[in-house]
Amino acid sequence: MTDNKGQHPAAKLAYHRQNAWDRMSGGERDAAAAFCEEYKKFLGTAKTEREAVAAAQAYLVGAGFRPLSDTAMLRPGDKVYTVSRRKTLIAAVIGKNPAASGFNIIGAHLDSPRLDLKPQPLYEEDGLALLKTHYYGGIKKYQWLSVPLALHGVVVKGDGTTVSLVIGEKPGEPVFTVADLLPHLAKDQMDKKMADAVPGESLNVLTGGIPVGAEDLKDRCKLAVLERLNKLYGIVEEDLISAEIELVPAWMSSDVGLDGSFIGGYGQDDRVCVYTSLRAVAEMNMPERTALIVLADKEEIGSTGNTGMESSFFINAAAEIVSRCVPGYNELALRRVLSHSLALSADVNAALDPNYSEVYEKSNTARLGCGVVLTKYTGSRGKSATSDAHAEVMADIRRLFNSAGVVWQTGELGKVDQGGGGTIAHIMASYDMDVLDCGVALLGMHSTFEIASKADIYMTYKGYKAFLAS
Ligand code: MN
Ligand code: MN
Repeated sequence: MTDNKGQHPAAKLAYHRQNAWDRMSGGERDAAAAFCEEYKKFLGTAKTEREAVAAAQAYLVGAGFRPLSDTAMLRPGDKVYTVSRRKTLIAAVIGKNPAASGFNIIGAHLDSPRLDLKPQPLYEEDGLALLKTHYYGGIKKYQWLSVPLALHGVVVKGDGTTVSLVIGEKPGEPVFTVADLLPHLAKDQMDKKMADAVPGESLNVLTGGIPVGAEDLKDRCKLAVLERLNKLYGIVEEDLISAEIELVPAWMSSDVGLDGSFIGGYGQDDRVCVYTSLRAVAEMNMPERTALIVLADKEEIGSTGNTGMESSFFINAAAEIVSRCVPGYNELALRRVLSHSLALSADVNAALDPNYSEVYEKSNTARLGCGVVLTKYTGSRGKSATSDAHAEVMADIRRLFNSAGVVWQTGELGKVDQGGGGTIAHIMASYDMDVLDCGVALLGMHSTFEIASKADIYMTYKGYKAFLAS
C-alpha cells in the first residue's frame, strides 16, 4: 500500500534526524548568523575561567542583573547574580511561581583544557629561557606543539596585590610556543605509541633568548626574562609561586568552510553552553518558574575544589536565593526547591567525524547541523558514573522543544566499548532534581581548534530559552 507520493503509510511512523538548516527560515538563518558573531567575540575575550566569569558578569550587569548580596528580598522578575572566587557564576531571574515549585536550572562549565605554568616555571637550558607547564584536563599533547600560544592569568604579588596578564593576543605582540621535534630526527619518537610520543615534561614553552650581563654570569637568558617581567609588571620570580598563568591558543575563533557554516575556535567546550545559557537567562523577564544558570569551574578535572560543581558553592547560592524568596526559610524549604527543580546539564557532545567513523555508532551519534543534542546518559563502559535522565524527563524536553520549533537530536559519546566521558549532570542529580544533558555537538573536542555548527549553536540558545521560560 502506498500514498499518492508513493510512500507506505508506515513510513510516517519512522523517526528521522532533521537537519536544522532545512528547518530554518531566511530570517532565522540571519538571526543565527548575528548570534554567532556575538558568540565569537565572547570566545575571544573569555579564554580562561576567570575571563569567562568577568565577561559573563559584565554582560549580566549590562542586562540589568544586580549582585545577589545587594538584595534583601526577591520578587518575581528580579534579576540577580553571584560570583564565587572569580571562577564561578550563578545568575537567576525570579519566577512567578512559588519557589517551592522548583527552579529551571541550566549548568555549564567555564574551564577548558590548557597548559598551566608550574609554580616554579622559569628555567634556562642550552642558552634558551623556557617555562615549564602542567597540562590541565584531557588533551592530546601533540596538538599543543608548534602552535602560537598566548599567556593569560594572574600573579598575586608578595604584598597581596594582583597583576593580570594577557600576552600574545594583540596584533604585533609576541606569542609563545612549544617547539616540536623535526621529522628528520624523530625516528624513535615516531615508533612510539601516540600517548607516549610527547611526554608531559617536554611541554616547555619557549620564552626568551637574548642574554643580559657579562658572559660569565649564569642563566643570562632567564635573568633577562625576569628583568623584563619586573619592568613590565613589577614582579619577581617568587611571585610566580602565587600565580595562575595559563597558555591557550593565541588565535581568535573564525568561520570555517566556504559557506561559513561552522565556527572554529579554542574553548568551545564548554563556553558554547556558557554563552548560549547566558544569553537565554538574560532574556528572561517574568518566567513562570525561577530561571537559574550555574557556570562552574574545574569540570575538566573532575569538578573538584571549591569552585567545582562538587563543592557547596552552588547549594550556598541556592540557599541565599531561596531565603530571599521564602518567608520563614529553613533547610527543608531549600531541599524542596532543589528536589522539585528540573535541570539541563549544558555540555558539549561529540559530533560524527567522517574521518574516524569507526569509533562512532552512527544511529546514536550527533551530527553537526542537526540541532541541539539531548544526551540521555553519558559515562563509559556500561554507563559507569552517569546520571541517566528518566524517560519522563526526555519526553518533557522533547515535547517542549518540538512545540518551540527547536531542532534537536540525540547523541551518545561514541561506541559502547570505545571510551566515554561525563558531565556535571550526576552532581546536579545528587540534589534530587531531574537532569538531562543538553548541548552542542563538536568536532575536535578538547583540541586547540574545536568546531561547532552555527545552526546547532543557535538551536541550543533557542532550546535553553524555551526551557527557562517553561
Ligand atoms: Mn565539557
Ligand atoms: Mn571537556
